[in-house]
Amino acid sequence: MYDSVKREKEDITMRVSKQDFAIEVEGKKAVCPLGEVVGKKMISEGKIPVISCEGGCFRGEIARVAAHMVAKEEPYSRGCHGEMFTAPRSAMAEWARKANKIVVIDGCFMHCHGRIMKNVVGHENMIQFDALPIYNKDNKYKDIMLVDEISEAEREGLARQVADKILASLKDGTPYDSESQPSCG
Ligand code: SF4
Repeated sequence: MYDSVKREKEDITMRVSKQDFAIEVEGKKAVCPLGEVVGKKMISEGKIPVISCEGGCFRGEIARVAAHMVAKEEPYSRGCHGEMFTAPRSAMAEWARKANKIVVIDGCFMHCHGRIMKNVVGHENMIQFDALPIYNKDNKYKDIMLVDEISEAEREGLARQVADKILASLKDGTPYDSESQPSCG
C-alpha cells in the first residue's frame, strides 16, 4: 500500500528547491483579545515561546504534543504560531520578536514552521528541532500518515521522548538541530 508513497517521498527528497516565495495575508490589523492578554503577560514574565508545526498528520501531532510538554517547564510557555505569523501587531507576535529565543518543533525534515519563523525573528533567535529522527530510530514510523494509525498512549510516549530530548538539549546549551540531516524517515 505504501510502496508508491515511499518512492514518491524519495523522489521529493531529491528535489530540494532553494526558491523563496511569499504568501500574502489579509487583515493584518486583526488580533485575538485573549492572545493580547497572554502575549503581554509572557513578555512581562520573560518566558521563551515554544511553537510546533502542528501539521495534521501523525508527525505534526507528535510535534504538537511534544511542544505542550516542553512548554510546561520553566522558562518556556506555549505560543500561538498563527498569530505570530499572521498578526504582526499582536502581543503574541511582539512576544516572539522580543523573546531572547524561540523554540520551534517541526514534525519532520520539511521544517515548515522553522522556515517561516526564521524570517519573523531571525535565524539567530530560533532554536529549531525536527521531532521525527528523535523517535523514529528503527524507521518504525516512516510510513505512518494518519494520527489514529497509532494509539493515543503510544503517541503520548513518543511525544514524551521528543520533549525529554529537546529539554535536555536546551539545558545543555547544545540545541539539537537536525536541519543539516534532511531525511523523510
Ligand atoms: S514539518 Fe512535516 S509534519 Fe510539520 S507541517 Fe511540515 S510536512 Fe507536516
